[in-house]
Amino acid sequence: MRYNVESYGFFATPCNNLGVQIVLYMNTKQIYLDNAATTKVMNEVGEAAVHAMTEVYGNPSSLHRLGIDAERLIAYAKKQIMAALGVTSEQGEIIFTSGATEGNNTAIFEIAETYGKRRKRVVTTTVEHPSVEKAFDRLEEKGFEVVRVGPDENGEITADSLYSAVDENTCLISAMLVNNENGYILPIGEAFQKIKKRYPDCFTHCDCVQGFEKIPLSQKKLCADIITLSGHKIHAPKGIGAMFIKKGVRLTPLMVGGGQQKGVRSGTEPVPMIYAFGKAVEILSGNLSERYNHATEINNYARNRLSEIGAVILSGTSASPYILSIAVPNIKSETMLHFLEEKNIFVSSGSACSKGKTSDVPTEFKVEPQYLDSIIRLSFSFETSESDIDALCEAVSDGMKNLAKIRK
Ligand code: PMP
Repeated sequence: MRYNVESYGFFATPCNNLGVQIVLYMNTKQIYLDNAATTKVMNEVGEAAVHAMTEVYGNPSSLHRLGIDAERLIAYAKKQIMAALGVTSEQGEIIFTSGATEGNNTAIFEIAETYGKRRKRVVTTTVEHPSVEKAFDRLEEKGFEVVRVGPDENGEITADSLYSAVDENTCLISAMLVNNENGYILPIGEAFQKIKKRYPDCFTHCDCVQGFEKIPLSQKKLCADIITLSGHKIHAPKGIGAMFIKKGVRLTPLMVGGGQQKGVRSGTEPVPMIYAFGKAVEILSGNLSERYNHATEINNYARNRLSEIGAVILSGTSASPYILSIAVPNIKSETMLHFLEEKNIFVSSGSACSKGKTSDVPTEFKVEPQYLDSIIRLSFSFETSESDIDALCEAVSDGMKNLAKIRK
């Protein structure tokens, strides 16, 4: 057995009357391959949050200088996010939320409430995150006609299939850019452009959580009226997200109160989280393509090495390089997950959001039934190295030799 030793050495401690004893220590490195679930906050980002908490602590609604300073941090973060989406303040607004769950809920419920009085059809896909999926289930209970577009026999969701689901009676289409379970990239730009051209009154919403700051994207290319983002997937803290809302889109607010954020989302803005989010966006926007190339190299390396040891690669080659879905034949996902955990390697079984429940997404993507119980999701960051993948492969093949097989 090999340990992933990050550092080792020795130190001397007093020992009875005999002088000193030499203690050897080994720090076992954590190999974190669960970046689609959440990411480690970057140091500069954490420092930005502390700065806002301890120094720029005014309420951004206060009229005095401390309030204005806090407001400036919010303006900075908005500017960074707008630049990353390729938009200006003339084109729309950035509204901060508690995360993408709130963003997705707000977009879907509020578009339906504001524009769905007469146009009762809404369209989504069968592979969305539960924060979209369940919002549509609720709209269905309220009497909306929900159309859910799924992958075809090749596991592809085509722009045409999304376009064909929309008609003149449709008030909303909501579809994700990158699937959180296998990294599949949906043809959102192509689909939304066609839809907007033919049905300009149909609102387009895109959950960009797993694409933002990972793959190149722009609001214009996506042709999205509303975009939702989450901070904790991009090395900012948990509990902060943002929505881009195109000018002219009216949302009936989900949160009412003090009228902050132009009344769209009342509640005192969490300035430290917002500032930290902005800082993460600024840093990551500076090296998106470098990180993308790194993720691609790691992904290719992992595909090759894992195939060699008998794992099955489930993610298609055109998926986001940040997510790699695999199956380890005949070994239950959770058994493998905990086996790896004991070796300080952290992965996910399917997606973290489907904790305790099996997700339908792999079936939707036509994963063969014999692999459904054996899926492991690996997700990378700029910190992932080839030696992390080597350690993973060694541990997986160890597991394949030693773990109890799934009973047929
Ligand atoms: N959408 C997608 C695609 C996600 O991966 C996630 C997080 N798992 C969410 C939405 C929800 O984001 P948050 O945790 O910020 O609520």
